[in-house]
Amino acid sequence: MAEKEELHSRTICASTRAVNHLFAANSCPLCKGYQIHPAYRGRKGSFLFRCPVCGIIFKVPNCIELSNYYSLILAKDIKAESTPLEVVSEIYKKVLSQLSRDCLIVDFGCGAGHFLEFLADAGYRNIIGVERSLRLAIHLRNKGLEVRENLLQIEDGSVDVVLAIEVLEHLEDPKSALAEIHRILKRSGSILITTPNQKSIKAKVLRWRWKEFRRPSHLIFFDRNSLKRLLEEVGFSRARGLKDIYYTRYRPIEFCLNLLGLTGNIRFLAFKD
Ligand SMILES: [Zn+2]
Repeated sequence: MAEKEELHSRTICASTRAVNHLFAANSCPLCKGYQIHPAYRGRKGSFLFRCPVCGIIFKVPNCIELSNYYSLILAKDIKAESTPLEVVSEIYKKVLSQLSRDCLIVDFGCGAGHFLEFLADAGYRNIIGVERSLRLAIHLRNKGLEVRENLLQIEDGSVDVVLAIEVLEHLEDPKSALAEIHRILKRSGSILITTPNQKSIKAKVLRWRWKEFRRPSHLIFFDRNSLKRLLEEVGFSRARGLKDIYYTRYRPIEFCLNLLGLTGNIRFLAFKD
């Protein structure tokens, strides 16, 4: 009997927390729809929400936690989480190596700058990083790299390629960021995006315990359909998944999962026509 009562009271507490969080979430950060509902419940009563209209999973941002994260983060912390060099090299070979060394490439959310350094070593002369963490931006400028704090500081129609490698999931408003990227791209310019896949096997099995969901700075999670729809909404065309990047040589099992859309990341290339 006591166990039943305890279970009942725990259920009520969990429901109350869900309602409180729903109230805080208010609406979907992408489509502003109100039909949101809890997707996963984490520790300490935190929640991830799903929007059935645009298909994303999202968190309510904790502004203080985020502000601390971006003001205190160090290059060495980012480096530990950065995309491995062999993957950078694979992206370069498949997407960038055909481009002229004079083209303008923007690495949006450049973090510790290892992609910028890779491109500089490959002979590209016009590369700009965009990084919201002032501390990281200063660190990169001290290394001689050009870094802006936001996309507004870049001219309309001036950029050939924008890289957004593991960035969209960090943004409070990815739609506005993608619209800005569309603005700065030249006609026929392209954007390369990689971001965690909420439909991956790991996400389905581990649920809230999936490391991508648990990172405090990760706020929004896409699947292929929701990302494609968002790209088309802001004006991009020919959006397509890059099935052969990452996995051909280095991770054969993940390559097979990728064909089924079940790997941990989505990789998309889209164009401004
Ligand atoms: Zn929505």
